[in-house]
Amino acid sequence: AAAPNDLRAFWMPFTANRQFKAAPRMLVAAEGMHYTAADGRRILDGTAGLWCVNAGHKRPLIVKAIQNQIEELDYAPAFQMGHPKAFELANRLADLAPEGLDHVMFTNSGSEAVETALKTAIAYHRARGEGARFRLIGRERGYHGVNFGGISVGGIVSNRKMFGTLLTGVDHMRDTHLPEKNAFSWGQPEHGAELADDLLRIAKLHDPSTIAAVIVEPMSGSTGVLLPPIGYLQRLRQICDEHGILLIFDEVITGFGRVGEPFGSQRFGVTPDMIVCAKGLTNGIIPMGAVIVSPKIHDAFMTGPEHLIEFFHGYTYSGNPMAAAAGLATLETYKQEGLLTRARELERYWGDALHALRGLPHVIDIRNLGLIGAVELEPIPGHPTKRAFAAFLKAFEKGLLIRTTGDIIALSPPLIIEKPQIDELIGGLADVLKTLE
Ligand code: PMP
Repeated sequence: AAAPNDLRAFWMPFTANRQFKAAPRMLVAAEGMHYTAADGRRILDGTAGLWCVNAGHKRPLIVKAIQNQIEELDYAPAFQMGHPKAFELANRLADLAPEGLDHVMFTNSGSEAVETALKTAIAYHRARGEGARFRLIGRERGYHGVNFGGISVGGIVSNRKMFGTLLTGVDHMRDTHLPEKNAFSWGQPEHGAELADDLLRIAKLHDPSTIAAVIVEPMSGSTGVLLPPIGYLQRLRQICDEHGILLIFDEVITGFGRVGEPFGSQRFGVTPDMIVCAKGLTNGIIPMGAVIVSPKIHDAFMTGPEHLIEFFHGYTYSGNPMAAAAGLATLETYKQEGLLTRARELERYWGDALHALRGLPHVIDIRNLGLIGAVELEPIPGHPTKRAFAAFLKAFEKGLLIRTTGDIIALSPPLIIEKPQIDELIGGLADVLKTLE
């Protein structure tokens, strides 16, 4: 058998994985706001794992719920039967969702939840006899996971270009990020709401009655924390309503308190027809995703002619007992500790701390909302990613976990973070930035 420090077998073909093998950084334990690295050092978690451990690590209620669940009921199929916790979690989730979204389908990840939403959108129009609606619209720099549907509607060209045509009938709206107008704006930028009219441009390219759905992250996360200009999402909603197009929000990152409300939808005041979520749903512990839909979508499949049953969709692990138990305990932890609104309480402090980095070497933009933030660095010509990756390594040396995407540093600490820990994280990052070449 391989030794525990044998790095040969486990593989993800990302550059990041190659970087890891060049300089291994193993995490071996975690509690609250901290990881423990293999060399015993405590690392302040500035990213909530991968934007998912919103309640912090090893929270007692969640640990206990998982332990109890495995003793009680390890697995139960959700096809033609069920178990109570899946229904309970669906109800709790529907209560948290914006008014008008009240039915839940469970998946095992964000990527699967995206596929589920895209298929549901097309099947919904078909169920209503509008079978010609098959087009899907995403946005440049949108990220929707790594499955085929998700990379098709996703706006990262390098993620999809080698795979040929992928889903047909997909178009991308313009990126909403206008650095030339909005650099260093505090919170949501003002400029660019009219960019939503790009949807009309696409609608005119085709017959709008062939468009099934538009999918956007209300705030793009992994492509660099790109905030929607004020009014942008409202205008998208309006255009979708005018043309009978479904609006899908991918809230895999913005869900569960990241921007100071249960969902970004509530923060931005726009209700989509479907919300895709994952990550914070189970505090990142047991994989689970979900799609929350409006009654009109639910009813299209669950009432009316039998042929609608043609929409076959669901996974072996949809709503499985272990994930459902973890999800219920996670939502209970958020509730008991007021975590779903905490990002709003800390927003001013967090934003001020981040914006104090303005003027440090190479910093060309700072973005913030709730408890999420980005520090964009000027790329070294010919070496995009190099400068931010150097910052990541130096921060890790100092006991801080940050995340980088290109030359953008992204921060999204667990929602239990205290003000002194914000100072430690951002102050430490400032020290790192001062030493960057
Ligand atoms: N959508 C968004 C907005 C995401 O940020 C992610 C993951 N970072 C996904 C989808 C995919 O989720 P998963 O990795 O759980 O498949």
